[in-house]
Amino acid sequence: MLVIDAARIVDPLRTFAPGRLIIEDGSVRELGTQDNIPVPSSAERVDLSGLTVTPGFIDPHIHGCGGVDVMEGTYNSLNVISTILARHGTTTFLPTTVSSREDVLSSALEKLGSLIPKAFEGATPVGIHMEGPFISAGKRGTHKASNIVPPDVEMFQKWIRLSNRQIRLVTIAPELDGFESILNVAAQAGVTVAMGHSNASLAEANAAADRGVCYAVHTFNAMREFTHREPGIVGTVLSDDRIFAEIIADGVHVHPAVVRTFARAKGKNRILLATDRTSAAGMPDGRYVLGSDTINVSGGVCRDSEGRLAGSTLTQEVALRNMVAWTDLSFEDSLIGLTLNPARALKLEKKGALEPGFDADVVALDEHFRVIRTYVGGRLVWTNSK
Ligand SMILES: [Zn+2]
Repeated sequence: MLVIDAARIVDPLRTFAPGRLIIEDGSVRELGTQDNIPVPSSAERVDLSGLTVTPGFIDPHIHGCGGVDVMEGTYNSLNVISTILARHGTTTFLPTTVSSREDVLSSALEKLGSLIPKAFEGATPVGIHMEGPFISAGKRGTHKASNIVPPDVEMFQKWIRLSNRQIRLVTIAPELDGFESILNVAAQAGVTVAMGHSNASLAEANAAADRGVCYAVHTFNAMREFTHREPGIVGTVLSDDRIFAEIIADGVHVHPAVVRTFARAKGKNRILLATDRTSAAGMPDGRYVLGSDTINVSGGVCRDSEGRLAGSTLTQEVALRNMVAWTDLSFEDSLIGLTLNPARALKLEKKGALEPGFDADVVALDEHFRVIRTYVGGRLVWTNSK
């Protein structure tokens, strides 16, 4: 049993100061103030006075980091990613594939599907995010045109099977013919469908939302441009309160002023602070891979050979700080965007908060919101001993 005392604990919906968190067998047993919760005898004490304790961060959009791409599909590569993510507060993630040749994607999904149930040294992978290949050729972003295919139910069923039913999220353009049939298969398989890489009109995106598609991938990026006469898919994402929406808050993918506008439109309960980070994250500028393509990184900005943005080098730790700096949202409200909201959007029932019975995925931050400690399932996996 572990007892963590901290200057404050943000749940994220409630704040306890000074806070006390009791962890037992990898789960939260009790949460409250130090006045209200007695310390059980024989418990191990951890003194984090001066720090803020929060739930671990959840990132639904990770292509890689530390020079490694998730599509390599080996235990070691996934473990490198898992370990590095934990240093920046991320305790749960979805390894994310990019549109690729059918055999390449099949092989990656099969390997990832067999790896995900294993134990890792840092953040926990909880399923695969399949980004493409059923996306718009006109809004493909860095996904290669030759790898994009129309929605194909049999192919999708094969991938679900090959992944050992580990696909948790799939990004599709909702305006494509065949979208509805994918939706039906996804619903049966428990896969959440996201709209993204899409040229959908407002009406097309509204129709998808009415069919239950309540997740949008990297809002603004690789989407039909928002204009005041045809707001397109962005108009739906910003105005429909049912939709959880990712934003890449690095100041490169979306201007800080637009992040601020986005935060006002979506409100604290629908923002997802995803990173879309690539193998180049946490590495010096240079050449790296994204799926089977090469990307060039300069000043921390990833671009493909055509000069298009190709993922990011962002961490959730920095995304959180940027939200606090750029928007009206407080630290507590910004925090919801990388804890409770992604847990709800991805239907992760025991994650995203520090309620009794929840997984003891815990982050400790200093006064500048820098990650000082990370616990996954009650186990200390990272500490920045200053
Ligand atoms: Zn991506």
